[in-house]
Amino acid sequence: MSDQTHLTNFSGDKKAWPVYLTIGNILSKTRNSPSKMAVVLVALLPVPPKFTSKKTKTRSIQRQNNDEALDAVFSLIFEPLEAFTKSGKAMNCSDGKVRQCFPVLAAWIADHAENEALHGLKRMSCARCEVPIESLGSDATEVHPTRDYERYASVTEQYFDTGDEQLAASLSAVGIKMERNVFVGLSRVVVPLLFKPDILHNVYLGLFKHLMQWIEDFLKKHDRQDLFDEVWKSLPPYPGFFVPKKAYREVTQWQGKEMRNLGRCIVGVLASALRRPTPAQQGPFRNVIRCVRALVDFSLMAQYRSHTPETLGYMERYLEAFHHYKDVFQEFRGSKKTRGDADANDEQLRLEHERELKGAGRVSAANRRRLQDAYRAQRADEREEILRSQSHFNFIKLHLLVHYCSHVRQFGNIPMYSTDVGELAHKVQIKEGYRHSNKNDASRQILDYYGRVHAVSMRLLTLRALQAEAIDQEELSGDAERRFLDETDRYRPRKGLAQAEDARPRKLLKARYANIDNLRQLSLSLDVPVERIFEEMIKYSRRSLKGDERLPEDDERLSILPIEQFGQLQIPVLAFQETDVYDTHRARTTGKRSFRNGASRNDWVWVAVGSKGEYGALHGQLPGKLRGLFKVRNTVADATGSAVHRLAVVQLLQAQSNGGHITDAHGLVKVSVRRQAPFEDAFWIVDIMTISGIAHLIPEGDGQWLVNSGIDLRTFNEIY
Ligand SMILES: [Zn+2]
Repeated sequence: MSDQTHLTNFSGDKKAWPVYLTIGNILSKTRNSPSKMAVVLVALLPVPPKFTSKKTKTRSIQRQNNDEALDAVFSLIFEPLEAFTKSGKAMNCSDGKVRQCFPVLAAWIADHAENEALHGLKRMSCARCEVPIESLGSDATEVHPTRDYERYASVTEQYFDTGDEQLAASLSAVGIKMERNVFVGLSRVVVPLLFKPDILHNVYLGLFKHLMQWIEDFLKKHDRQDLFDEVWKSLPPYPGFFVPKKAYREVTQWQGKEMRNLGRCIVGVLASALRRPTPAQQGPFRNVIRCVRALVDFSLMAQYRSHTPETLGYMERYLEAFHHYKDVFQEFRGSKKTRGDADANDEQLRLEHERELKGAGRVSAANRRRLQDAYRAQRADEREEILRSQSHFNFIKLHLLVHYCSHVRQFGNIPMYSTDVGELAHKVQIKEGYRHSNKNDASRQILDYYGRVHAVSMRLLTLRALQAEAIDQEELSGDAERRFLDETDRYRPRKGLAQAEDARPRKLLKARYANIDNLRQLSLSLDVPVERIFEEMIKYSRRSLKGDERLPEDDERLSILPIEQFGQLQIPVLAFQETDVYDTHRARTTGKRSFRNGASRNDWVWVAVGSKGEYGALHGQLPGKLRGLFKVRNTVADATGSAVHRLAVVQLLQAQSNGGHITDAHGLVKVSVRRQAPFEDAFWIVDIMTISGIAHLIPEGDGQWLVNSGIDLRTFNEIY
């Protein structure tokens, strides 16, 4: 893989163009963890100098020099690999055996601009297929022939021999430049299959950037920008989600992290910002949301680590839906020229109308206003018409999506080929290397630095592995007798793992408050009447506890039960498509106290209140505001002695009239405050075992929220 990067964040335009190498046998989880050193830096490509001359001839010579230099460097890089690919090499495997291995270049991960440079493609050409420019914006139903780079190479050679211009034209027609593709001629390599989908560059940094521009234009046209910003700034926290602190329009840096963040909430924020449309707005609003939703859904599902024909079918349908609804953005897709045309037409119309108005002689003020309104409408219509007719969606990043599903069918999941986690670390290492160099002819120094860091880290990893193995053996030899008795137990996982397996990680109460010892003090701390607490405690007891475990039901005995109050609940949440990896959700409740010197923080959580079949897409869960956490010791229970109950105070929301079903265009579940009592008083006391994680709700005003199902893959998969 290769990726151009700036050497310093602060000054100059010094760039590095590193080439990395990794092998496909390594688990992507390991590969993407920088500390595992699974990716090596093999070369720094020569970064072509900026074109300084304005003369076409000088520029074309310079371009040719660049191409030749690149070609020469790649020959050097591939030369040693080529020998192994053909005849193989004996390699030490981790199981102690030596195997004859045939390493073959199987994938090249790079953003589109680099793919163009390395494959010798013209601008806006696909590295995989011969799609013509005018079809880039069409959906996956049309299949274009796969590229045949060997044929291009032989045609190029023929051209150089014969000078037949027709040959050149035939290549140009399919978007091929008369240069050698650096990969052609490598043994056992299928060049068009080197291209891999790249979610980061293609979807997040490519399509989402376009999409946000269109959305901004759309919001402006319909005067919804302020509302969008308001919703944007009031998003609640969620694990791994960076709560926006600035208004959307004030954010200037949109890089991978920010774009991913945006992808996780854009559908909900947009749906909220487009709430309550006028009758004329209903159609376009619905289509815009459907269009954005389709692209977001596609990008989320593209990140699944395992697929079924069903999920691939979904992906194809999302892409279809996007193409179906994208026309709603057509008018914002205009090129500069189109915009210029529209402006010119507009000006002409304005002058015509002025003349007409003058020619009409004396008209009443009301008539005059009516005429002006009609003129304004006509101008707006014509502008839209021009923009629509001359704009198109034929850009390469939209086309590349059609290859995603076929890629999964052929090669497996897409994140496997995404190295964006690792990428960051390697960039850092290259920048570090540059910082440690004398900045003068730094390439060799960067390579040396990286080489040393890599070698030392590898040695440390080996030592650590050996150490772990030694400890393991000690344990095993102590257990020798048991091993003989129970042969089948030989492959049992190491101790730590075994424990984790039979006991799933537990929910923990953290951040204990001082000086809260009984329910009266708790009621003061939570700022609710103690009678309400007693009432809810009794309800909880009757609902969830068996006869002799029940709590006392008179105020006096309830008020002497010892309690402890906490500020945080740690909830282990099984990671999506994993069986033994847990994410930790830290649900916080500070009551009215400030959180980290800021405003108070009381998180939204999911509470299991019904059976799986209830509340439609929410599957028996309702979101609620976490208002308090406490432990109570039942010192007066008769039979069981002193049982401890770990409880939460939550203000539950309700699924809206449609009962949690998804009906709207945005496909999100609506929830709202319960109307029967003032929200502040309407709380329940539940066992913390019923709380399954943090919920992400997007405010929609008037005590209503949208459940953000795009916040992570797990939620996306569950709430649907
Ligand atoms: Zn293609």
